[in-house]
Amino acid sequence: MLVLACGYAGYHLSERTGIRALAESGERQLELHARAVESEITKYTYLPSLLELEASVGRLLRTPTGYRRQLVNEYLEGLNLRSGSLAVYILDTDGRVVATSNWAQADSYLGEDLSFRAYFKDAMQGQPGRFYGIGSTVGEPGYYLAHGLRDGERLIGVAVVKVKLDALEERWARARLEAYVSDENGIIILSSNPARRLKSLRPLDEATRERLARSLQYHWSALEELQPLSSMTLGAGIEQVSFATTMADYHEPVSYLAQSRALSDTPWRLTLLTPMNDLRREALSHATLAAVACALLAFLLIAWNERRKVIATRLAAREALQHANGELERRIAERTADLRASNERLKRQIRERRQTESNLRKTQDELVQAGKLAVIGQMSTSIAHELNQPLAALRTLSANAVRFLQRGAHDTASANLQAIGDLVDRMGKITASLRAFARRSDDKGEAELEKALDAALFLLHARLQRLDVQIERQIETDAGTRLGIDQTRLEQILVNLVANALDAMGEQPERRLWLNGAASAGQYRLEVRDNGPGISPELRVHLFEPFFTTKPGEQGLGLGLTLSASLAAAAGGSLTVRHPAEGGSAFILCLKRIGA
Ligand code: ADP
Repeated sequence: MLVLACGYAGYHLSERTGIRALAESGERQLELHARAVESEITKYTYLPSLLELEASVGRLLRTPTGYRRQLVNEYLEGLNLRSGSLAVYILDTDGRVVATSNWAQADSYLGEDLSFRAYFKDAMQGQPGRFYGIGSTVGEPGYYLAHGLRDGERLIGVAVVKVKLDALEERWARARLEAYVSDENGIIILSSNPARRLKSLRPLDEATRERLARSLQYHWSALEELQPLSSMTLGAGIEQVSFATTMADYHEPVSYLAQSRALSDTPWRLTLLTPMNDLRREALSHATLAAVACALLAFLLIAWNERRKVIATRLAAREALQHANGELERRIAERTADLRASNERLKRQIRERRQTESNLRKTQDELVQAGKLAVIGQMSTSIAHELNQPLAALRTLSANAVRFLQRGAHDTASANLQAIGDLVDRMGKITASLRAFARRSDDKGEAELEKALDAALFLLHARLQRLDVQIERQIETDAGTRLGIDQTRLEQILVNLVANALDAMGEQPERRLWLNGAASAGQYRLEVRDNGPGISPELRVHLFEPFFTTKPGEQGLGLGLTLSASLAAAAGGSLTVRHPAEGGSAFILCLKRIGA
């Protein structure tokens, strides 16, 4: 629609400026041709008045005679010939032709009554008679110029010159100019196009028609109206009219720019018709140009808009990206906060674990202590037996010593007292070792293997003797071999292992205990092996579990191996079991060596 509107506007603008240019050039043309018409018309104005000077004319009018008429006739014929007019003739005061230049021709005016002619009437009133009309005699159109002839103050006749104006029409036709001259009645009297001649420019009412018919001004012509297909007033003296073409193979109406101007000295108007078809064609091409330019501009605008949209989309995408980035950063911050929180939680848990671990260690220490006390409890019977034996011996020895002193056998008595002293020493040794075993200990420390082994065997001395155990002791030691474990703890582990071996071998006919120690780089490996019944495969997995025991009643707590293994692990060593093919069980204690 914009393109159409542009085309329309272009057309109108072009047409308007075209019309203006056309009107300007038309104006000049009009002026030029109007001057030409005016000069053509005024060319003869002096001619009728000239006849007043001719004495023969005055004489004829005053006293007409045949001779005088012939004289004037010949004079007029000569004058007509020289001036190039159609006819020159003289009327008397009644309007009759008294002499004429065409006296010799068949259609001579001589004697004709022309009193009805307006030019005669005007001339008789002392005004110059101007008239365009068609001759009543021959029917030839012409311009009549009349002048009243005076004799002193009195009007004695009228001189008339009839001239042809066809030359103008011919000139127009040669110049390919379309023009016409209309008279005071609005009738076209001169036209470059013969078809328009004697056409009326405005509608004539009946009275006018009647009057014109009576005056015979236009002979008998029908005086049809010149009807343009359309007409539009564009300004003062400018009109746009269109006529149907008269050409046979061309039916388009032709538009003209009609410019008219009044001609001086006459009531006539000259109208110039300038064809507008070229202008229309030009306007059409301008309209096309405007439409194309508009379409191009619209296209450019659309392209620009598209580009703007693309940029806007890109910007939006970037914004979205930034937003997403921001969102991501926010999430990361949230996650970081979460992580920090969970880190805190983990740290707290670690603290709690450490706390638990230290609690566990404490509990383990408690357990170690409890285990030791349990061992002591288990051993209480044998300890009581151990102490009862010397006590009974002490009672017998002291009673004997009293009796030997009463008899005076001092040597024997002193020997008894010596034995009593030995027994007391021994009992003191037992209680001391028990106290040492029960003492609390810690993770760190050093132990001497031989000493620990001796102490353990000493603690279990009574049971070893009662069961008549054969001990095979093969301990590979350098002087001062030290192990990385607390002395008491090592003793406790060894007491546990040896006590278990003794328990296992109770039913065996022959009891043998192997104690094998071997040093390797940085480590010491001690194996405690018995020839007991061994451990059945289904029980092996539970061996180191706390409170696992196969011993009846109060004999077993199921803590011995668990504690021993954990003590070994706490010192950086290990306690494992082996099931030898030849029977029995072997427990292997590995510990770090110090100073090796
Ligand atoms: P407890 O001696 O109080 O039963 P332990 O942890 O010392 O607890 O021993 C657990 C179990 O392992 C014992 O009940 C026993 O069945 C078995 N056991 C330990 N040492 C031996 C061994 N040398 N020979 C056979 N069985 C053993």
